[in-house]
Amino acid sequence: MSQQFAWAEDPPPPSRIDKQVFRPAKNSTNFVRFLGAIVGVYMHWHALEKKSLPCTGPDCSLCPEPRRWKGYAPALLWRHIEKNWAPIVADITENSIEITRENEPLRGKIFEVRRPGQRNNSPIIMTFREDKGTDNLPEPFDVKPILVRLWGYQLRSSELRTSDNHENILPFTKSG
Ligand SMILES: [Zn+2]
Repeated sequence: MSQQFAWAEDPPPPSRIDKQVFRPAKNSTNFVRFLGAIVGVYMHWHALEKKSLPCTGPDCSLCPEPRRWKGYAPALLWRHIEKNWAPIVADITENSIEITRENEPLRGKIFEVRRPGQRNNSPIIMTFREDKGTDNLPEPFDVKPILVRLWGYQLRSSELRTSDNHENILPFTKSG
């Protein structure tokens, strides 16, 4: 018997890029439970591409156009039909900075997330609801690779480590 098999010692690590940035539908009420801290990034509105793109710092082609702070955090979303919590990236806008800051550390805490307006891009309103503690809560995951892929960039892995010290600066290379 010379047959060989690739027996694995451990199950594969959980995928880090299968999670989506959660954007609440208009007029919907949702419940989000934070797994970890907010990662902040400055965004520009790109008029030609009609979407927000991250400021890339000194070599940014969109500066000095106005920048807007955006926050993203690893979180769980309550799914009403399945009756379970699913991992998502929570989208935090400027009008929620105060309520999230008042409730730090966010890990374990549940917020109601609503988009009460008639438009799909009307402001997201967050309200603190409950501190459920951190017992049996999954570890926080890194939101940066998810965001970078969403924006159409590839993160240089060598710089991902150094960026941990500068939470507001993400290194990029444009992919494709
Ligand atoms: Zn810029």
